[in-house]
Amino acid sequence: MSSFTRREFLATTAAAASLIAAPAIAQAAPRVVVVGGGFAGTSAARALKKADPRIAVTLVETSRTFTACPFSNGVIGGLRDLKAQQFGYDKVAADGIQVAFATATGVDAQARTVALDSGSPLPYDRLVLAPGIDIRWDGLPGYTEAAAEKMPHAWRAGEQTTLLRRQLEAMEDGGVVVMACPANPFRCPPGPYERASLIAHYLKTRKPRSKLIVLDAKDQFSKQRLFQNAWQALYPDHLEWVSLSKGGKVTSVDPATNTLVTDFASHKAAVANVIPPQKAGRIAQAAGVADRSGWCPIDPVTFESKLQPNIHVLGDATIAGAMPKSAFTANAQAKVCAAAIVKLLAGEKPSEPKLINTCYSLIAPNYGITVAGVYHPVNGVLTEIPGGGVSPVDAPASFRAQEAMFAEGWFNTITSEVFG
Ligand SMILES: Cc1cc2nc3c(=O)[nH]c(=O)nc-3n(C[C@H](O)[C@H](O)[C@H](O)COP(=O)(O)OP(=O)(O)OC[C@H]3O[C@@H](n4cnc5c(N)ncnc54)[C@H](O)[C@@H]3O)c2cc1C
Repeated sequence: MSSFTRREFLATTAAAASLIAAPAIAQAAPRVVVVGGGFAGTSAARALKKADPRIAVTLVETSRTFTACPFSNGVIGGLRDLKAQQFGYDKVAADGIQVAFATATGVDAQARTVALDSGSPLPYDRLVLAPGIDIRWDGLPGYTEAAAEKMPHAWRAGEQTTLLRRQLEAMEDGGVVVMACPANPFRCPPGPYERASLIAHYLKTRKPRSKLIVLDAKDQFSKQRLFQNAWQALYPDHLEWVSLSKGGKVTSVDPATNTLVTDFASHKAAVANVIPPQKAGRIAQAAGVADRSGWCPIDPVTFESKLQPNIHVLGDATIAGAMPKSAFTANAQAKVCAAAIVKLLAGEKPSEPKLINTCYSLIAPNYGITVAGVYHPVNGVLTEIPGGGVSPVDAPASFRAQEAMFAEGWFNTITSEVFG
């Protein structure tokens, strides 16, 4: 018969309690892995850590330097330096987030692990995928990875942005720039038209005998009236937009001759900027969260994949109903998703969100315009609800200048919130 003293009994009980408590503590410190350190992923990692510092958050990102797309059209137009677009992850790591510079190559949804190109697989309780976009290399005949070195897309910022800028600089005055815009959906709906504006601004001020032709696979686009009114006023001799119904859809390209082909004409370009069709970043396909459209269906309350449990998808990679693919959206979705994950981990029910998006575009250095939207889940789909709108069509120059200033303020605010 055992004869414990009271002291022995207490010691044994404490040891047993600590043994019993060990798994309980492990459960109280769940692991969330976030793949993609862009606007969506970094925002989600930081929001998770802030909401519950006990969560072990690992952020997996390929590159040590993030190059932001918003305002990169300004780099192409010669208005800013690429360095102003670049951010590191030191402050993210200082929050207690484990930052792993690696590429996620696969996901085992059963075992709940993420495979990396270097290092051991990472186990997770919840996984967040925020890989942004990939180019659909089979989406436009002739447009291969090699062709993009000659006819840059510059739709993922960095070397491609610099390449397009250099080509514009090297072009002789009188050269024709041709741009191809894709059909919906794609990253940043107003982005091509902001780019067209800032290239036209560069041509008007530095290469006045040159011209930009914009070939479009659409008849309608974001903030269209505001853009077109401004083009008429500012760039009548430097920008020509060719809509889908006027034969604007580019059906193939030939990098050997720098030619863009439509059903009606061939456009030989001095500089060609081809914005090709896109899809969710590669890891989304590997994880089985992308559907046949190439994008990822999600639950609009939690951003959990509709195809794989415990995996959430954010940002450009998602099918997010009426929400456009923007950095503003990515950041807003990340905060909603992080709050939902915290509740799900605690066994609670996430609340229905309202999300906001605002997209600024520059038409010239002191000429900004905006579109804003408010979104809410309706029958399982993020639907636009009243509260948004676009800049007034008739506004004085001072108003446009103020919006250009707000645009810059927004960029500084979001990048310091996400990376600073
Ligand atoms: C020219 C242009 C102008 C724009 N202007 C605006 C604007 O004014 N306002 C606005 O709101 N939005 C703008 N956007 C859109 C904005 O850039 C995107 O919507 C936003 O970047 C989406 O965020 P994301 O996190 O989904 O993707 P990203 O920001 O692209 O981040 C994805 C990250 O994931 C990483 N990654 C991908 N796969 C892996 C992997 N397997 N392993 C590890 N890491 C991986 C990538 O390296 C990248 O860092 C613009 C876009 C363009 C092209």
